[in-house]
Amino acid sequence: MTFHNFYRDTETVENQNYSTFAAAAVNFIMVIVAAGNNFSNMQNKVIIFSAPSGSGKSTIVNHILGLFPELEFSISATSRAPRGSEKNGREYYFFSEEEFRKMISENKFVEYEEVYSGSYYGTLKSELDRIWSKGHVIIFDVDVKGGVNLKRIFGEQALSVFIRTTSVEELRRRLIARGTDSMEAIEKRVAKAAEEMTFAEKFDCILVNDVLDDAFAEAEKVVGSFIRENRSCFRTIPSHSTQHSQK
Ligand code: ADP
Ligand code: 5GP
Repeated sequence: MTFHNFYRDTETVENQNYSTFAAAAVNFIMVIVAAGNNFSNMQNKVIIFSAPSGSGKSTIVNHILGLFPELEFSISATSRAPRGSEKNGREYYFFSEEEFRKMISENKFVEYEEVYSGSYYGTLKSELDRIWSKGHVIIFDVDVKGGVNLKRIFGEQALSVFIRTTSVEELRRRLIARGTDSMEAIEKRVAKAAEEMTFAEKFDCILVNDVLDDAFAEAEKVVGSFIRENRSCFRTIPSHSTQHSQK
């Protein structure tokens, strides 16, 4: 049995060969070692951040990664071209559309989406094994549909956080200021944002990223209480908002 079973892999035990069992044995030993390092209480947890493009997901996820050494970023596969200083195997694993489709047919993904027309993004099963085998908690930066799917798959093992901005106009301003996308790509992203915002209620918590330092502090609070105390989350965590309700 491999860690694949944690995310309802469709492979049967009968289909797995000896080397898979050997790999599983190594994984199992690593889990025991991780437990000895006080990682046991967070074994196989995942944290999902989703939002329309430009909301500040990557900014917040990178900040959180710097605070909690037990977290590890899930590097997604994508068929889009590298942007700016992005490196294969750091921000993404980059593939051609053809290669990506082949991996879909080989059932290599936990989830994938064609987030923008012609641009596929997906979480490889091998990525989960890679991170869990070290006893780390996985942190995802995925689109809203991927976020909902991952929460459905992982249930109580997962904390799902939706990041919101104050308006779609603010998203556009941030994407322009980021300076990494063409105006055409920015308009494609903004056009999707209104519909994506309607997914917010499907998440464990909603974090309003208005004042960045406040959003950092709130993200730290919810992530910390999930990984250290197993606590879920406040429904809405405003950085500068009137809402403040609890789940
Ligand atoms: P995403 O990963 O959701 O697409 P990014 O993290 O890349 O978004 O953020 C988009 C741009 O907005 C970046 O240039 C980032 O520095 C900026 N940004 C993030 N949060 C804020 C904020 N609270 N106020 C102003 N700009 C922000
Ligand atoms: P970008 O091109 O800006 O890096 O990402 C575009 C969108 O794809 C973002 O919303 C990002 O979160 C999402 N994304 C990145 N990786 C994945 C993934 O593995 N699965 C899904 N469903 N979405 C992803």
